[in-house]
Amino acid sequence: MAPVAETEYLGARRHLVQLLQEQGIRDLAVLHAIDEVPRHRFVPTGVRHRAYEDSSLPIGSGQTISQPSIHARYLELLHLTGEERVLEIGTGSGYQTALLARMVAQVFSVERIGALLDRARDVLCEIGVRNVSFLLGDGTLGWRQYGPYDAILVSAAAPTVPPAYVEQLAEGGRLLIPLGEREEQVLNVITRRGDALEQVEAGPVRFVPLLGKESWES
Ligand code: SAH
Repeated sequence: MAPVAETEYLGARRHLVQLLQEQGIRDLAVLHAIDEVPRHRFVPTGVRHRAYEDSSLPIGSGQTISQPSIHARYLELLHLTGEERVLEIGTGSGYQTALLARMVAQVFSVERIGALLDRARDVLCEIGVRNVSFLLGDGTLGWRQYGPYDAILVSAAAPTVPPAYVEQLAEGGRLLIPLGEREEQVLNVITRRGDALEQVEAGPVRFVPLLGKESWES
């Protein structure tokens, strides 16, 4: 099936892309992906009219879809070339999964809440995204089977780095993870250089908690 042309909300989406450019997002692949992916399809119908505002929105099961500017910053920090195999922890709505799928070769996405994963999988299928594999389970353990990954994006916050992420990160690969307290964290960018890890802080963020064996208890 050919991907459905997404003309609905086109003006609102262009406006959002412009806003992100004004905020300093320069990576054209990121801006293109945001221009093409229909964010309104990933949020509940009751908040659809707000889909192209730069705000986080509830997606059910007590979780939220992040602000578009956070996704843009996250993706820009990865400096993607299009060839990568990427592990995403916390599928949530599947919106970031769809952005990633447009920007890389293959996405592996793990979510612990079945209802969210099912919905995300359906929407991605409806809009014609094919290069994503899903796993229902505890993402604090990563997804060993398909590693190592060129990038690992963690969409939920942890107190410390779960060891599996370092193990499953390829040479030169980047791990993005919010680290800190349950309410407030700092986005960390960790790059593997041989056996050493280079760690840079990229500013304060606020994410929902990563819950599982190697993070906070559920
Ligand atoms: N990028 C997503 C963010 C969703 S919020 C979006 O924009 O929609 C973070 C998600 O991480 C939630 O869906 C939550 O259920 C999930 N999560 C939390 N702990 C997890 C774990 N251990 N394994 C997998 N997913 C987890």
